[in-house]
Amino acid sequence: MIVGGGLVGMAMAAALGGAGIPVTLVESEKLPDLTRAAFDGRSSAIAYGSQQVLAGIGAWDHIAPFAEPIRDIRVSDGGWQYKAASPFFVHYHFADLDPQSVPGAHGGQPPFGWIIENRAVRVGLLERLKEIPSLLHIPGTRVSGIEFAGGSNLVTLDDGRRIRARLVIGADGRASAVRRMAGIGVKELGYKHSAIVCTVTHELPHEGVAHEHFLPIGPFAMLPMRDDAEGRHRSSIVWTEDARIIPMLLKLSDADLGAEIERRFGKTLGAIMPTGPRFTYPLKMILADTYIKEGLALTGDAAHGMHPIAGQGFNMGVRDVAALSEVLVDAWRGGLDLGSLQVLERYARWRRFDNLMMLVVTDGLTRLFSNDLPPLRLARDLGFFLFNKAKPLKRLAMRHAMGVVGDLPRLVRGEKL
Ligand SMILES: Cc1cc2nc3c(=O)[nH]c(=O)nc-3n(C[C@H](O)[C@H](O)[C@H](O)COP(=O)(O)OP(=O)(O)OC[C@H]3O[C@@H](n4cnc5c(N)ncnc54)[C@H](O)[C@@H]3O)c2cc1C
Repeated sequence: MIVGGGLVGMAMAAALGGAGIPVTLVESEKLPDLTRAAFDGRSSAIAYGSQQVLAGIGAWDHIAPFAEPIRDIRVSDGGWQYKAASPFFVHYHFADLDPQSVPGAHGGQPPFGWIIENRAVRVGLLERLKEIPSLLHIPGTRVSGIEFAGGSNLVTLDDGRRIRARLVIGADGRASAVRRMAGIGVKELGYKHSAIVCTVTHELPHEGVAHEHFLPIGPFAMLPMRDDAEGRHRSSIVWTEDARIIPMLLKLSDADLGAEIERRFGKTLGAIMPTGPRFTYPLKMILADTYIKEGLALTGDAAHGMHPIAGQGFNMGVRDVAALSEVLVDAWRGGLDLGSLQVLERYARWRRFDNLMMLVVTDGLTRLFSNDLPPLRLARDLGFFLFNKAKPLKRLAMRHAMGVVGDLPRLVRGEKL
């Protein structure tokens, strides 16, 4: 049983169900709500390695029509109001990477990844789930209790149903009830800023460039989206700001908010205008004390949550899906007990270090860049300059951003599960 049918839970269900393992997926939200525009305003940077996983689990064809490739990444350091942006920036261009060094690329020149509205990823995953006969999908129902009992867990739903499951997979997000019911503790670290997320239209085409602009309060990202039906150029912004002033910003008119965005981002894309609903998300880092116990595995934000500075939270969840589904499918084919600790320990060993490293990197970047101290700013700009010259280091960073470094699961390598 998978508890939580968010992005990670649905991907997990598609991976296991697609391999013929009987799966029940329980999600507390009702189906029409999950795909409403007002439910989740975010767009995600989906790394190349994650796209390989989504393709391998049969979901990518449903998602691809909504995906905009990222061909360039520009990272710059800048102050606003009182200082011009620094002339030094890091520029990654997708064609700088040797396609032979990218697993699954088959010689073609892959982009770094794609920007896709979370809503479109949900719709695509839901389409894929409908095609899987071994899946029982129960939306609109909350898991209210779990009795963990070695060989057979008893899961209670809030409609009174009780279901036995050999393995419970917690994919129920940062405030995971599964984690709490299993008695697993969590380390948390809050940030003093929150994120504003909205879609903007702009005068000039983005040419597939994702911008990350480091401002004193925190990062400001402009992520290239598909043009809308009227041909208007669009991007998604993730703007970290002091949590105390966000309520005021959210009340501004479109024209005034557009002017505030231009003050921070500049005129590279011409005039900018927000469109559609505005969202805000509190930011914190979390790490579960363990990912597994007998009959239980935690995945996605239920296991680890990070600052969106590098757009990696969902990507790490997709890697959990790729690793855990490989471990479970191998065990299933070998006739092993899916809930046993020996099986699950392989998953925990595989994923914990990678996730921990990403938490450390995203937290470190947030602290290094979210300030305007002159010596630090100088060191950062010098760092950018030297990094741009160090080609092998830059290529390694590009492959990291694409999610194709390390001990990769079969799905990430573009192979069958
Ligand atoms: C501003 C912002 C920008 C981001 N940008 C990116 C990005 O560009 N790239 C990227 O990779 N990541 C990004 N992330 C991170 C990414 O959004 C998350 O890591 C990802 O959504 C986590 O998915 P999840 O399925 O693990 O959890 P969730 O999305 O939280 O899903 C959990 C699901 O469980 C359900 N649930 C909860 N409790 C129960 C229960 N008791 N019973 C049944 N169901 C339950 C909930 O309804 C929910 O649907 C961003 C995050 C933020 C905040």
